Amino acid sequence: MAEGICSGQSELFFPPPAERPQARLKREAAARSICQSCPVQLECRTYARIHREHGFWGGETEEERTLAGFAPPHPIGAARLRAVV
Ligand code: SF4
Repeated sequence: MAEGICSGQSELFFPPPAERPQARLKREAAARSICQSCPVQLECRTYARIHREHGFWGGETEEERTLAGFAPPHPIGAARLRAVV
């Protein structure tokens, strides 16, 4: 985590209460853009998957982690995922 380049930008990686879908897409796109330049992206993604984290980690949304088989215990985007799957 010390080598991550997202320090101080947690508002991009975790949703505010009652975030609207369009705002979520915009926030996650900004977070993804940062992750793509991060030297520890793979390690970060692996950590989030193993620890079933909430939020955006390692270039991956909760929904993407869930689809990869690493669902968080209470996914924030579960309703949205059910609508997609
Ligand atoms: S991969 Fe993304 S979330 Fe993980 S440390 Fe890097 S910038 Fe932060």
